[in-house]
Amino acid sequence: MSKLENKVALITGASKGIGAAIAKHFAAEGAKVVVNYASSKEGADKVVKEITDNGGTAIAVQGDVSKKDDVIRLLEETKNQFGGLDVLVNNAGIYDYLPIENITEESFHNQFNINVLGSILTIQESIKLFGEKGGNIINISSGASNSPLPTGSVYSATKTALDAITVALSKEFSGRNIRINSILPGIVETEGSTAAGFIGSEAEAQFVSKTPLGRTGQPDDIAKVAVFIASDDAAWITGEKLAVSGGVYGF
Ligand code: NAP
Repeated sequence: MSKLENKVALITGASKGIGAAIAKHFAAEGAKVVVNYASSKEGADKVVKEITDNGGTAIAVQGDVSKKDDVIRLLEETKNQFGGLDVLVNNAGIYDYLPIENITEESFHNQFNINVLGSILTIQESIKLFGEKGGNIINISSGASNSPLPTGSVYSATKTALDAITVALSKEFSGRNIRINSILPGIVETEGSTAAGFIGSEAEAQFVSKTPLGRTGQPDDIAKVAVFIASDDAAWITGEKLAVSGGVYGF
């Protein structure tokens, strides 16, 4: 049997990058997948088409995770289409690397609203759908949570906050059969990291030189670990922060 057979999974920010890879891997393991996006309908539709062309089940649902009404609608759509929810992956996130002098209130709030508040809002609505049977939450954090880089003060703070939420909720969910874990990727080649100028930069080369496994990550590297954490193979893992970074962010 496939690892996620009969599971319903919501992946936020799945129109591209790491989220898209997680959506495809989950569907390949039998999950019915909700591909959430903020503005890239074309990207989300492409992910859904690739999944359905391969015999899987998926729908695309627009929704800004930082807006409560959007999140309520996203979960309603999930329930209407698939009858419930088993796995939430909080992947939607933005990174705005800025020197301290250039940080604006807008950049601060945008990053915290999407990366932190967005995750809280989706968790609040998802646990209603988990109900008595429980469920599984994966927060896509970052190695930058433990090892912040220069100009990444605000972004790193959002991910440290997200990891604190993971640990606090793992305890708060005691007795409710809800697992919650963080995955902390190293630098991964995505549309976002390419647009931010990391991929192909001197910073990437320096990073790779410090990485024991000697390369930048690919979205599939993260997605395969997300499948494991979402599956019953990880049934006794909760409240963990798992670095998936070629060794550069190991503890
Ligand atoms: P990406 O390529 O930029 O994709 C970001 C995704 O998030 C898109 O699907 C985007 O949707 C969605 N999104 C953005 N704001 C949203 C919002 N308000 N509501 C709903 N969806 C929203 O990003 P990525 O590089 O794959 O990163 C994904 C996650 O991994 C992020 O949380 C990031 O912090 C984390 N991460 C990435 C790296 C890396 O090197 N790439 C390393 C460590 C951690 P639209 O396309 O519709 O805007």
